[in-house]
Amino acid sequence: MNVLIVAEQSGGHLKKATLHAVAAGQAIAGRTGGKVHVAVLGKGVGAVAAEIAAYGVTVHAAEADGLEHYLAEAFAPVVVEIAKGVGATFVGAAATAFGKDLIPRVAARMGAATATEVLGFGGAGPAITFHRPMWAGNVLAEVDLATPVKAFTIRPTEFPPAAKAAGGEVKGVAAAVDLAALPVRFVEFKEVKSARPELTEARVVVSGGRGTKGDFKELEALADDLGAAVGATRAAVDAGWVANDLQVGQTGKVVAPELYIAAGISGAIQHLAGMKGSKVIVAINKDPEAPIFQLADYGLVADLFKAVPELREKIKAGKGS
Ligand SMILES: Cc1cc2nc3c(=O)[nH]c(=O)nc-3n(C[C@H](O)[C@H](O)[C@H](O)COP(=O)(O)OP(=O)(O)OC[C@H]3O[C@@H](n4cnc5c(N)ncnc54)[C@H](O)[C@@H]3O)c2cc1C
Repeated sequence: MNVLIVAEQSGGHLKKATLHAVAAGQAIAGRTGGKVHVAVLGKGVGAVAAEIAAYGVTVHAAEADGLEHYLAEAFAPVVVEIAKGVGATFVGAAATAFGKDLIPRVAARMGAATATEVLGFGGAGPAITFHRPMWAGNVLAEVDLATPVKAFTIRPTEFPPAAKAAGGEVKGVAAAVDLAALPVRFVEFKEVKSARPELTEARVVVSGGRGTKGDFKELEALADDLGAAVGATRAAVDAGWVANDLQVGQTGKVVAPELYIAAGISGAIQHLAGMKGSKVIVAINKDPEAPIFQLADYGLVADLFKAVPELREKIKAGKGS
C-alpha cells in the first residue's frame, strides 16, 4: 500500500520535520509492501524536490504561481490529486503548524479517517494501527482507521530522520491553481527573524516560566551562549512576556532537543507533554517539591536569577579553558 508524505518547505528551504515524516512513511511502506511518494508544492521547489529524492523516494513536485504562498485551500486539492494519482492508501505529514492545518483538509476531501500526532505504529503485518497521545500524553491510544484511505500526522520527535538512499526520482506535476476562486487569499507572511535556531529544530532549548517574573534576559543570554532556542510555558506566553510561538507544550510546540533547560517552570502535565522526549532535562526551580524535578535528569533547587548567571560564568570558564 502506497504512502504519500507531504513535504514542508519555505522559500526553497526544506523543513527538517519532513525527513521524520518520510521515515514514518517508510516504516508503513516497509510493512505494507508499498512505495513512499512525497509531494512538494510551491514555486521554485526544484532544488527541494531533488534534496528529498536523495532519500530514495519518488518526489512529485507541483509548481505553480498560485502555490507560492502556503494556503491550505490551494494546497489541499493538489495533494489530493497527487494522492489519487499514486494510489496512496496512507497520506501524512509532520504534525507541524503546516501539517496540522493541511492534512485535515486533505482527509476531508478523501473521506479519510485521521490519526493526529502519531507516535508510532502497531498492528500486525500490513494492518497498521496508530499510536497517539490523548489527555496531554497521559493516555496512549491505539487507533485503527477503518476508511480505505488513512490520513495521519506524526510527531517528528518520535521518528528518526530518514536516511539517504538510492533510487529516488523527481516527477513534475501540472497543478492548476485558481487563487481568485478560493474563499481565502494570501495577504502577508510576517516572518519572525531571529538569530537563534527554530524551537523545534534546536539541539538545545532554554525555557522559562512564571518564575522568571517576565525577565527573560538571563535565559536569552544563556541560550545565546549555548546556541540554543528560547522556549516558554503558557503562563509566560499568556502574561505577554514572550511571543506565543515560543510556547512549549500540549497547546504549543513539541520539542525533543538533546538538552532542555527549564527555569522557573513548575512542570504542569500540559508543559511536560511538549518536552518530555528531550534527551537530557535540567530543571532550575526554587521549590524542591516542584513536579518538574520528577522528570528532570539534573535538578537544581535554586533561585534562577542567581543560578543562571552562575551557570553562564561556568560555561564561559569552561569554553575558555
Ligand atoms: C488545556 C490546557 C492546555 C495547556 N497547554 C499548555 C502548554 O502547551 N504549555 C504550557 O506550558 N502550559 C500549558 N497549560 C498551562 C499549564 O497547566 C500550567 O499552568 C503552566 O504550564 C504553568 O506554567 P509555569 O510552570 O511557568 O508556572 P507555574 O506553575 O506558576 O510555576 C512557576 C514555577 O516557578 C518557580 N519559581 C518562582 N520563582 C522562581 C525563581 N526566582 N527561581 C526559580 N524558580 C522559581 C516556582 O517554584 C514554580 O514552580 C495548559 C493548560 C490547559 C488547561
